[in-house]
Amino acid sequence: MNRPYKIAFALTYLTISSVMTIGQVKMKPEMTETWEPAVEVVLPSAGYIGAKPPSDAVVLFEGKSAGSWMNGKGMDAEWQVKEGVLTVKKGTGDIQTREQFGDIQMHIEWKIPKSISGAGQSRGNSGIFFQGRYELQILDSYQNATYTNGQAASIYKQSPPLKNAMNPPGEWNVYDVIYTAPRFNTNGSLFSPARITVLHNGVLVQNNFEIKGPTEYIGLPKYSSHGDGPIILQDHGDPSEAISFRNIWVRRL
Ligand code: MG
Repeated sequence: MNRPYKIAFALTYLTISSVMTIGQVKMKPEMTETWEPAVEVVLPSAGYIGAKPPSDAVVLFEGKSAGSWMNGKGMDAEWQVKEGVLTVKKGTGDIQTREQFGDIQMHIEWKIPKSISGAGQSRGNSGIFFQGRYELQILDSYQNATYTNGQAASIYKQSPPLKNAMNPPGEWNVYDVIYTAPRFNTNGSLFSPARITVLHNGVLVQNNFEIKGPTEYIGLPKYSSHGDGPIILQDHGDPSEAISFRNIWVRRL
């Protein structure tokens, strides 16, 4: 390369790299939040709470033992089991199923404690990660404003719920989910995205939504090839009171 070309090459490289750096610096969490329109509140149906597992279900928590779950290091989950309820033990980390799953139907009941404090994303935050990657948000969204694609029953930072069917703190909520795993081509490229349908307390809140990629707090999601994965329940880092779960079962599809 002669000298003028070298200078031109260097200038082009500097320009491109500085634009990319500025792009990274500018990428902030707020950039992927949506606030309007607000999600309409509806009174939930009560009939879905307490649904008994069908005969072909894999029961993940029946009220007595968290044995189907482990922490991120493969050791027994440290969350508390008491009086038929599994409660987050803050600071011990997320828990995940010992078994791996792909396409599933899921039933899971969760409760925000009556004593809940905090606001926005720091009020009863948890979540269910399908295949360890794609988060269905859990939050106290009873009279608690936050960005709509981060409230309860959102696909976090991707899709607000169609309605807010939240029960107040101290009462049980239930998600019934139909989750379809993404498919990948043999070269690792995406063949078809993950899809999710969610009922929150019997109200349709996600209708066959095409998940855009693994959940990201900052920036845009991007798929990379993977197989079956665990279901993860989130121990969110905020200081609000711990939330509880019960009656968790899935059916492989
Ligand atoms: Mg969460």
